[in-house]
Amino acid sequence: MMHEPELDVLIIGAGFGGIRMLHEARRRGLSARVLEAGDDVGGAWHWNRYPGARTDSESWVYCFAFDKDLQDDWDWPERYPSQPQVQAYLKHVVERFDMHRDIELNTRVEAAVFDEDRDLWTVTTESGQRIVCRTLVSATGPLSAPQEPPYPGLADFQGEWYLTARWPHEPVDFAGKRVAVIGTGASGIQVIPLVAAVAERLTVFQRTANYAIPARNYVLDDLQRQSIKSRYNEIWEQVSRQAMGMAMNPANRVFSDVTPEQRQRLLEAAWEEGGFRFFLETFDDVFVDPESNEAISEFIRNKIRTIVKDPATAELLCPKPDHPFGAKRPPLGNFYYETFNRDNVDLVDVSSNAIDDVTETGIRLMDGTEYELDMIIFATGFDALTGALTRIDIRGRGGRSLAEKWQDGPRTHLAMAVDEFPNFFMVAGPQIPFANAPAMIEPAATTIGAAISQLRDKNQTRVEVVPEAVEEYNNLLHAFYNATIFPAGAKLRAWWLGTNVEGKTLGVAMNFGGFPTWAESVKAEAAEGFEHYRFSTNPDAQPSQAAAEVKTGADMT
Ligand code: NAP
Repeated sequence: MMHEPELDVLIIGAGFGGIRMLHEARRRGLSARVLEAGDDVGGAWHWNRYPGARTDSESWVYCFAFDKDLQDDWDWPERYPSQPQVQAYLKHVVERFDMHRDIELNTRVEAAVFDEDRDLWTVTTESGQRIVCRTLVSATGPLSAPQEPPYPGLADFQGEWYLTARWPHEPVDFAGKRVAVIGTGASGIQVIPLVAAVAERLTVFQRTANYAIPARNYVLDDLQRQSIKSRYNEIWEQVSRQAMGMAMNPANRVFSDVTPEQRQRLLEAAWEEGGFRFFLETFDDVFVDPESNEAISEFIRNKIRTIVKDPATAELLCPKPDHPFGAKRPPLGNFYYETFNRDNVDLVDVSSNAIDDVTETGIRLMDGTEYELDMIIFATGFDALTGALTRIDIRGRGGRSLAEKWQDGPRTHLAMAVDEFPNFFMVAGPQIPFANAPAMIEPAATTIGAAISQLRDKNQTRVEVVPEAVEEYNNLLHAFYNATIFPAGAKLRAWWLGTNVEGKTLGVAMNFGGFPTWAESVKAEAAEGFEHYRFSTNPDAQPSQAAAEVKTGADMT
């Protein structure tokens, strides 16, 4: 019996990862389609349209590197692109490469089941559509499943309420309103200064103080753009060597190399430069040497004490001594601490006196204190890394779901594949490095494309990572993790450890060993013929039709 798959590749998600993967599939002559839950492309940059949303990566590396003309033609307006600018860029890419015809919007994937007899995936959407494909690639993003507010009283709240991660298309009017923001992670820290500028009163509910580094955004001049474009080869070369996949230089020094006076000067200069350069270009041992880390942590606390005029508010904004810098993902701020000098802004500490519930008129704390509000903004974070994947019923060999397999935390090979889940790949899945997303997507999409091409070219029907490779990668991740300050994040509810979600176990769900070694391993997998993967042919399964028609070039690995 012949079993014809409709598609070589079905991709879930039309953000950076899905768009890049679609391009990769097409250039290899694979038939591909993208299913996207949103009503437009953009992924995280479609949903997180709250005021102040912008990247923490510099624009010239927050983009695709696969096409020189695309790179040369696009003009980034600012150092850090805003949400509308990033989404405009992604829409431009989709149009330029005529991708719309292969992207289905408003299509949420509900389930995907691997048929072991036919070596095919059957994917079911929310509307009941069924698609059969040889390989399934998820590009669902690490931060795309928001946490719902856990307050039963919210249903009776008479005011407006919003999630930063599900911000409406229509403008939200803060003028003359008493607004609350719950959450002081990267999202809260971006939205707070802008709401404060307009709202009658802004009350910020803070459970854990964070280290916000000034972003120091600026408008790019034509001459700066010209300079960036002329150096692109060098820029991507820098990215490939840099720990977080950014165009920065290593500090080439550790904390103990310099005197206390030199340290202060270096940190002051880096604070002026702003952004991730603050910690990536000062000392290379910030995340491994507690003394180096404490120096940076205390430097930021002192900046907070200098900027914020009310000493009690300043102390509340200072992260506690058991919170090393970076143990939670450091956010970038645009006049964040300055906002607390405004007369219309209050900071409420809910670390020991937690929010009890939302009432009809506002928020009530455990001790009975009530806040009357017209609007509540929840910047309360995500069921990160695994959430978007485990919310889909993905079943591999033996019928076991990914959610069941990952009960104690995800275990992947290079954030790309999972044993027992044949013909399934992830672009930037759980266990990715803590790094610039577009930089990570590039080698991941290329290698995944190479694996699928190999399957097709050899008329094979199944590819699966061997469990030993998953074990080896996880041993490595544990070794990296245990050599850093990152374990301190567990008690601080760091999203990358899963402890921000009640009852969730993530284990070591990120690679803290840096971008370059990971990217090298991903590329080596393809270059060395996928030695950690088993390719096989099921005689009852029909190989992909495209195999007969399309030949790929030797440079396609
Ligand atoms: P987040 O970092 O997890 O922060 C969530 C915030 O909500 C925390 O301050 C948390 O407090 C608070 N919170 C959650 N539940 C609460 C409750 N019941 N009561 C009081 N406070 C509560 O989430 P995020 O800010 O959305 O950022 C997540 C990640 O998305 C970032 O780290 C970043 O990687 C990415 N992101 C990037 C950008 C950018 O690049 N510019 C912008 C936004 C987001 P606790 O800390 O006490 O748990």
